[in-house]
Amino acid sequence: MEIQDLNQEIRNRYLERMEPKSPQELPASWYGEDLLYSGKGNAIFIILPTPGCAHALSASGGCTMCSYIADSPLEAVSPDELVDIFKNSLNRFDIKPKTVVKIFVSGSFLNEDEIPREARDEILKLLNKEKNVEEVVVESRPEYVTEEILKACCSLIPDKIFEVSIGLETSSDYIKEYKINKGFTNEDFERAVSVVKNLKSDYKIASKAYLFVKPILTSEKEAIEDAVASAIYAEEVGVDRISFCPATIHKGTLMEVLWRRGSYQPPWIWSILEIIKRVRSLVKIPVIMDTSGFGTRRGPFNCKKCNKKLKNLIIQSNLDQSIPEEFDCECKDRWVADVEFSNITRSNTNLNL
Ligand SMILES: [Zn+2]
Repeated sequence: MEIQDLNQEIRNRYLERMEPKSPQELPASWYGEDLLYSGKGNAIFIILPTPGCAHALSASGGCTMCSYIADSPLEAVSPDELVDIFKNSLNRFDIKPKTVVKIFVSGSFLNEDEIPREARDEILKLLNKEKNVEEVVVESRPEYVTEEILKACCSLIPDKIFEVSIGLETSSDYIKEYKINKGFTNEDFERAVSVVKNLKSDYKIASKAYLFVKPILTSEKEAIEDAVASAIYAEEVGVDRISFCPATIHKGTLMEVLWRRGSYQPPWIWSILEIIKRVRSLVKIPVIMDTSGFGTRRGPFNCKKCNKKLKNLIIQSNLDQSIPEEFDCECKDRWVADVEFSNITRSNTNLNL
């Protein structure tokens, strides 16, 4: 069975069982500390209920680790409703100086089939009125990153940095195709980043690469090596920032199926620490490590004694971009053994459902 068919089958089975969610149930927003281009500041995160990632909805079945489709409403939300939801989410917070607003649409903000132009324009106009907002961050697959759309966005928020985050996941086209089912290649990514770079002389625009740590069918050691190589590549291509997303098991994904069978484990937090140490000394641009899901049953895990301490150490190092200090715990030997001796072929990787 091909990975695309398998992915689609798992997704369809999950969607059949899933209770449809109304658009009102889905939106969420929260507030936190974050690292801005100008230094430490605050972030407002807003999730909008859009139809969901076009790639996940297509015959490809989407990426092997992603459950965006399950986070999307099954009924359409009108542009006016989207703008209202955004406005209400933003108004929940007292916007302090040095704030970044991150808009998540469980897909591509720049795809007009997911977020109609009129809604996109209104949202950006609202943000333009907020003088304490320094940066606006959105996500998009590379195919929607065009000069025309970027100019349209940037011209509505001329004094703010507009950052486009692209889920590159890995610099290996092999892993993207056979382990993630990403549906694009490095060439597509390079084209999108060059569009952003070419607009830098006229607009405050930036790009970011999301890198995924430990796709399915990947050993602990391979995951570390791939993450480091991918960060070096992303910097060479010319992104302004890197954000690592260590694997967490989401519902209705091929990753979840393999995990339930004992054929996949999220990375050790030790591996994440190793990646940060190496990447911070090898690349010059800011590197953020996402710590959501750390220490949970479905996320990166060490042991109950050190999960939390290491998570806090990593959060701190995100804010000051330092290399975390040495740390030890009795679970470290097991990680070392896993990195040195584990081989994914020992697991049951038979993909037949
Ligand atoms: Zn430990």
